[in-house]
Amino acid sequence: NSVFAKVTQGPPDAILGITEAFKTDSFAEKINLGVGAYRDDAGKPYVLPSVKEAELRLVQQMLDKEYAGITGVPAFTKLAATLAYSPESKAITEDRLMITQSISGTGALRIGGEFLARWYPHGKTIYVPSPTWANHGAVFRDSGLEVKSYRYYDQKTISLDIDGLLDDLSSIPKKSMVLLHACAHNPTGVDPTPDQWKMIAEVMKKNELFPFFDMAYQGFASGDADKDAFALRYFVEQDFELVLAQSFAKNMGLYGERVGAFSLVTASPEEKKRVDSQIKIVVRPLYSNPPVHGARIASEIMGDEKLNAQWLGEVKGMADRIIAMRSLLRENLEKLGSSRSWTHITSQIGMFCYSGLTPEQVDDLRFKHSVYLTRDGRISMAGVTTKNVTRLAESIYAVTE
Ligand code: PLP
Repeated sequence: NSVFAKVTQGPPDAILGITEAFKTDSFAEKINLGVGAYRDDAGKPYVLPSVKEAELRLVQQMLDKEYAGITGVPAFTKLAATLAYSPESKAITEDRLMITQSISGTGALRIGGEFLARWYPHGKTIYVPSPTWANHGAVFRDSGLEVKSYRYYDQKTISLDIDGLLDDLSSIPKKSMVLLHACAHNPTGVDPTPDQWKMIAEVMKKNELFPFFDMAYQGFASGDADKDAFALRYFVEQDFELVLAQSFAKNMGLYGERVGAFSLVTASPEEKKRVDSQIKIVVRPLYSNPPVHGARIASEIMGDEKLNAQWLGEVKGMADRIIAMRSLLRENLEKLGSSRSWTHITSQIGMFCYSGLTPEQVDDLRFKHSVYLTRDGRISMAGVTTKNVTRLAESIYAVTE
């Protein structure tokens, strides 16, 4: 008998499975709405011109390939912190912000999970929204936390269940940890308004809950990086101690470079030092230190006023294309005379549209129309283009009428 004879077959990843199926479809006009990566209007991956420029500059500098420190490239983490919190944030000006580079957003979540499992003094349960990004549960469970959920999305109204959300956050055990999507909630595309964020902060203050922000789409939601950071910055203003996972995968298009950061707003510079020492103890046995290339690209961009402005313009360009596709898709469905309301397509925000399509309708789309998406009805708007939007609307119309 072989050593691994007892290894059981695990289930395939739901999202990557869609891409596999898409690849084997020979229909020329097939549409892939499964991937969580931006595509241009020709359906192609997009390397931002600001990233290309930064890479050229890096090549010319002929930098060495020495190891970064355990917490990464300092120029990068400093700029990542100001992008998220703003340079005027009191967490930064009062030297209370601990930050480490991470293996993109997933790695940041994992560092946070590992650190909180060891050092959060009030229990090991983290509450995540229902639904949430498919990987949150696994990341936190593998970190040693228990994962429970709070109400977030109302299937009937295809929008935020603010009453259910506030209700749950007031009734879960005091001092629990709570994961919040800072903007562009994945998979629903439904975000709280600024006023609703204020209500959430109030309830969380009252119940002494601990916020864990996941910001994987800063700038990608509204096209404005400051606007998208509203919730995070508001919570800091309200004197929460909190943690943040940041990703540069989507907003800089640095997916495979794995650029991210994990940060923690502490109570004092002295506490920050102690936390920093423990974060290093979490990271060292995981991967010793993070890769440098992507972090150098990001800091080259954010550290140069002109290139930074260009980048922010390009982020807005991506957000605007997605917003335009939302309008076109809705318009086309309405033109076809669909008897349903499709207003949620344009009221939702970020890369994804939670369409309200049933698993059976999703199967029909796939097998009758060569349109691929996850069975929860999540449409990656990045896969929609001016060329395929008409056929997409016709296909959705056909399976819903
Ligand atoms: N968090 C959310 C909500 C996401 O949607 C994603 C990516 O899809 C991530 C975190 C992490 O992505 P990455 O590890 O590529 O930065």
